[in-house]
Amino acid sequence: MKKQFAVIGLGRFGGSICKSLVEEGMEVLAIDENEEKVNEFASLATQAVIADTTDEKALRGLGIRNFDHVIVAIGDNIQASILTTLMLVEMNVKHITVKAQNDYHEKVLNRLGADEIVHPERDIGIRIAHSVVSKNVLDYLELSDEYSIVELGAGTTLHGETIVGLDLRAKYGCNILAVKRGDNIHVSPRPEEKIANGDILIVIGADDDINRLENQWI
Ligand code: ATP
Ligand code: ATP
Ligand code: CA
Repeated sequence: MKKQFAVIGLGRFGGSICKSLVEEGMEVLAIDENEEKVNEFASLATQAVIADTTDEKALRGLGIRNFDHVIVAIGDNIQASILTTLMLVEMNVKHITVKAQNDYHEKVLNRLGADEIVHPERDIGIRIAHSVVSKNVLDYLELSDEYSIVELGAGTTLHGETIVGLDLRAKYGCNILAVKRGDNIHVSPRPEEKIANGDILIVIGADDDINRLENQWI
């Protein structure tokens, strides 16, 4: 059976989750209190309804309890986000993901028992900061406090070097997961693979080691 998702709040964030889930072939109930938003998603989502999810009756009326995963993407109205989340938790919804607007909001959501809290503005900010601070870091994914995956531009300095020749594992404790070349991506590249100008290396490692590596390269 298809997994059933409900997305509450159809702003840019909730709206884009809704679209992606539909593209993945999932069943999606799109909910917003704003009629215009709901109309916008009427033809896209499996079903789109107007409801104020801080109204417990309305929320129960949607049969929200039976959904596998509910995503609360209410933005500026933190009170509405908290109240909606509280009721979803009390209804024992299987999996609840909530977008947090700030650290205090996140703290409260944690206490309430949201399964997953996302902080897109902050996280994207961190990612972009990494890519502007260091010229060769193109993208960055934090795995934990200590470990990350980064996309490093090879520039011209590494042209002709082989992966085994770089010896990243011994020198930096980092692993090259893949090499991007134009539109192609080589996953698990062979050790004798030569790096070309403009290649992008996708590297996993400890943040300290990645920093050392970046500083060595350019
Ligand atoms: P984004 O940054 O993702 O565009 P935003 O941070 O600007 O979103 P808002 O526009 O404040 O967030 O909220 C997202 C949506 O949530 C809006 O379309 C809004 O109508 C809806 N929303 C807010 N409160 C409720 C509620 N109580 N019930 C249902 N929908 C709500
Ligand atoms: P976010 O979604 O990232 O929380 P936002 O999209 O809600 O932010 P705003 O709150 O409109 O964006 O703007 C972000 C910050 O930029 C605010 O602190 C605001 O004071 C500041 N800002 C807006 N316009 C200007 C300006 N012309 N010059 C300097 N600062 C500005
Ligand atoms: Ca916003």
